[in-house]
Amino acid sequence: MPSTKTAAKTVAKKSAKRPNVNAAIAKPAAAKPKTKASGQFDPKRDLAPERVAEILRRLDAAYPNAECALIHRNAWELLVATILSAQCTDARVNMVTPELFRKYPTPQAMAEAPLPAIEEEIRSTGFYRNKAKSISGAAKKIVGEFKGQVPRTMAELLTVPGAARKTANVVLGVAYKIAEGVVVDTHVLRLSNRLSLTISTEPKKVEQELMQIIPKDHWIAFSHELIHHGRQVCIARKPRCVDCTLETLCHSKDKTWSSH
Ligand code: SF4
Repeated sequence: MPSTKTAAKTVAKKSAKRPNVNAAIAKPAAAKPKTKASGQFDPKRDLAPERVAEILRRLDAAYPNAECALIHRNAWELLVATILSAQCTDARVNMVTPELFRKYPTPQAMAEAPLPAIEEEIRSTGFYRNKAKSISGAAKKIVGEFKGQVPRTMAELLTVPGAARKTANVVLGVAYKIAEGVVVDTHVLRLSNRLSLTISTEPKKVEQELMQIIPKDHWIAFSHELIHHGRQVCIARKPRCVDCTLETLCHSKDKTWSSH
C-alpha cells in the first residue's frame, strides 16, 4: 500500500497533467500590458530617415519650448553650472549657483577665490572637491588665456579644466547657439538606446552616430527634448510607455507597455 506521502505525490502529478478547466472557461483577463517588444536593432528600419524625422517631429510637438534647465545669465555661469551638474540634479545646482555667483560673479573673481571657499559654496552638489578644482582651474584658464571670455570653439573649450565634450556642447549650443555636436548626457544616452538610434553605450560614439542621422539644425533642440522626455516620460527605472508620444516607434526591450 502506498504511503500517504506517495499517494499525495501521485495525485499532484496527475492533476498537473490535467487541463485546467477553470482556466479554459475563465473570462479573458483585462488586456495586459506587454512587457517586451521586439528589441532587436535593425539599422535599416531604425535609422531610416523617415523614422528619425518622425521621432524629431513628435519630440518637437511634445516639447516646443524645451530649454536647458540650468539657470544662468551668461556663458561663464552656464559653464560653471554644467560642471556642477555632474552626478547632481539641475534643481540642486540651481539652489547653489545664485549665492556662488553673488560672491564670485566673474571668472576673475572666481580665479581669485580660495579653493576652500568655493568648496564650501558647492558642497551640497557632491564631489565638491573635484568640482571646486575644475571651477577654479576653468576661471584661471579663461582669465589667463581667453581674456576673461568663455571661448566659442570646441577645440578651445576642451582645454578648459572641467569641460569635456558634453559640457562644451552645452555651452556652445545653449549660450552661443553654435551646433558643434549633440549633448549626450545620461538621458540622451538611455533614450537613444531605447529608441534604437544607437546600440552603443559610449557617449562619444553615441554622439558621433547621432550626428550622422540627425540633421544639424536639430542637434541642439534634440538633446533638450530628449532630456525632458527622459525626465518626464521615459524614466530610467520605469518608463511611462503608455503616455509616450514615441511609443508606436519604439521597440525597446525596456517597454512597460506596447501597442504593437
Ligand atoms: S517611454 Fe517607453 S515607448 Fe517611450 S521611448 Fe521610452 S521605452 Fe520607448
